Amino acid sequence: MRYAAYAQAFARTARRWNGKYLLSVVGKARSVPRAAPLLRLAPARVRHGGLMILAGFHGEEPAGPLCLLRYVHHIVGRAGDLKVPLCIYPVANPFGFDQNRRCTVEGKFTNAGFVHDEDVTGPEVALLRADMLRYRPEVFLDLHEDDHESRAYLYSFGEPQLAARLVATQRAFLEVAEGALSHTPAQVATAGQVRDHHDGSAEDFMSHAGTRASFAIETPTCEDLRVRMAVHLAIIDACLDDIAARRGGGK
Ligand SMILES: [Zn+2]
Repeated sequence: MRYAAYAQAFARTARRWNGKYLLSVVGKARSVPRAAPLLRLAPARVRHGGLMILAGFHGEEPAGPLCLLRYVHHIVGRAGDLKVPLCIYPVANPFGFDQNRRCTVEGKFTNAGFVHDEDVTGPEVALLRADMLRYRPEVFLDLHEDDHESRAYLYSFGEPQLAARLVATQRAFLEVAEGALSHTPAQVATAGQVRDHHDGSAEDFMSHAGTRASFAIETPTCEDLRVRMAVHLAIIDACLDDIAARRGGGK
């Protein structure tokens, strides 16, 4: 699926929520042959304290964007039932989506440079960063996958109980990582988590922006895509439940 088709399908689905939710163009992302719109689905009026979901930094990690497209009615409907504001950026890197690659047009990092100024990225990060801060989410989720790993895991910041619950959610579907990660053996997962990894990523950035918890979730691309999408959806549901439970709303 090309990004243009994805964006069109997402817009068609999101239109059903007109009045409550609005699909907006945050700005233009560099792509080939021309710039592509960066999309955000959020309440028509900015609401704080909900769940923010970002996906599609790395084009070769399709489960997140495809889960958001396939299950947007479930996710938005359930967030509404639970009275949890939601803000979704379905594809942060349209170029990567089209090329099945993890880099920007210039071959640079896409999910770094949000904070700590460690890596060069590009104008898309500046656009996203400014936009994300406006929503002040309580919990942040960045949907990733790992093509070097046969196990699921999290990069986690903030509240350990919610992090442990998300690992348990992953474990219901897949083995979770324990010990050195295949892509970078210096990164060691303990009970399915790499905690407080300050790599300049979006989840690192949002952990400094006042969230209660901030995560990147990782599923192994060697597993069946339907299973990986189910994991991403179950994680999103678990976050919605957690935010609602703390407010005493919803069931
Ligand atoms: Zn940091």
